[in-house]
Amino acid sequence: MNRRDFLATTALTSAAVATGIVTMAMTEQPATYKRPVIICKATGVQGMDAAYDMLRNGQDTLDAVLHVCKVQEDDPNDDSVGLGGLPNEDGVVELDACCMHGPTRRAGSVGGVRNIKNVGLLAKAVMEHTGHVMLVAEGAERFATAMGFSKENLLTERSRKIWLLWKETHSDKDWWGPGVADPNWKPPVQAPRSRSVPQSGKDLEARIRDLEPVAAELGIEPEFRREAIYRVLFPPTGTIHVSAVNEKGEMSGATTTSGLAWKLAGRLGDSPIIGAGCYTDQDVGSAGATGSGEENIKVAGAHTIVENMRKGMPPKEAGMDALQRIAHNHNNDMAHLRYLDMVYYILRKDGAYAGVALWGGSAEHPRSFAVHDGTKRVEKCAYLFEGTSIDWPPTPRLPETAK
Ligand code: ASP
Repeated sequence: MNRRDFLATTALTSAAVATGIVTMAMTEQPATYKRPVIICKATGVQGMDAAYDMLRNGQDTLDAVLHVCKVQEDDPNDDSVGLGGLPNEDGVVELDACCMHGPTRRAGSVGGVRNIKNVGLLAKAVMEHTGHVMLVAEGAERFATAMGFSKENLLTERSRKIWLLWKETHSDKDWWGPGVADPNWKPPVQAPRSRSVPQSGKDLEARIRDLEPVAAELGIEPEFRREAIYRVLFPPTGTIHVSAVNEKGEMSGATTTSGLAWKLAGRLGDSPIIGAGCYTDQDVGSAGATGSGEENIKVAGAHTIVENMRKGMPPKEAGMDALQRIAHNHNNDMAHLRYLDMVYYILRKDGAYAGVALWGGSAEHPRSFAVHDGTKRVEKCAYLFEGTSIDWPPTPRLPETAK
C-alpha cells in the first residue's frame, strides 16, 4: 500500500467510522439537480451535517464551508490541517488557506501562518477587514492577533514525535539521532541510506522494523507506533477543500492545509493560491484541489475548471481537462506522472458536481470525495489513469504497469 492509498484508507476508515457511510460510485447526474449541495474531500464528513443545516437555515455559504474546514482544523488527530498538522522540516507547523465568497465576489488568503489554527477563518478576516487579498507569514500572524485570533502551539506531542522520528531516521549522514558516542550507535550499512520509499512488501517490513525501536525510544505509544512509522515512510499530504451552493444558487469555496509534511520552511503550495487551490465564480461554479500543489499551481487548476464550465463543459469534463493539462506538462510521460497526484472537487451553480482524480486508486481504496445534498455520502472519483501513484521521493524502479 503506498502513502496515498494509506492516507485514503485512514481518511475513509475514520470517515466510515464517524458516519457509517460507504464509498459508492459517482452518482449519475440527473437533468435537474438538488440544492443545497456541499462537496469536499472525504475527510470533511465530520462537519458536513452541521454545514448542510446551516445552508438550510439560510446562513451564508462561506460560513457553512468554513465550518467544515474548522472542524478539521480543530481536530488534533487530522495531521494535515490546522492543529496537529505535520510540520515543515524544521519542526514548525505552517498553515495555508484561502476562500472565495460568490455573492460579493471577494477573496481572502493566508500563507505560511504559524501558531493560528483556524486559517480558513483568518483568510475570511483578510477578505472582510482589509483591502488586500493575501497576507503571509509574520504579517498574517500579526493581523490575526489584531483580529482576536488566539495563538497556540500547533505542534501536538503526537506530530512532534512523528517529526522527530522522521528527523532521526530519514538520513544517517547528519547530526540528528543518537551520535557516535551513543552506546548503541552502529555505522551505516549502506552509505548513504536511500530515503526512497520501499516498493515491495518485504522492503517495507524491513524498514518498519528499523524504525520500530527508534519510535519506542521516542515514547510513541505502541498502539500508534505503526501509524507513526507509516507517516514517516509515506509523508502525508492532507488539505481539505469545500465548495457549497445554497437553495438560491449562492456559492462559496475554501481550502485549508498544513501543506506537505517536512516541506521547506516558507514553502507555499496551491492551497492559498486563488485560482489554484480554490476558485469560485458566482455566475458559474466553484472548484478546489488537493494533491501535488506545485503541479496544480502550474495549471491554475480551480480557475481552469470554472472557466471550462463557463464555456459549457459539464463538471466532470471540466475537471478531466485540467488533469490532462497536468499530464501534458509532463509530455504524458508516465515515468513522471506516476509520482504525481491530484484530486479536484467541482460544483456547478445549478448543483451538478464531480470529483476527478489523476489516479483512480486501488479497488479497495478508490480515490473519493464527500458530497451532501440532503444525503451525506462518499463517492468514487472519475479518473484519468487506472491504478495508484507512487510516492515521492521515488525509487528508481517502476512497477510493471507504468512501463
Ligand atoms: N495541495 C497541498 C499542498 O501542496 C497538499 C495536499 O493537498 O495534500 O500543499
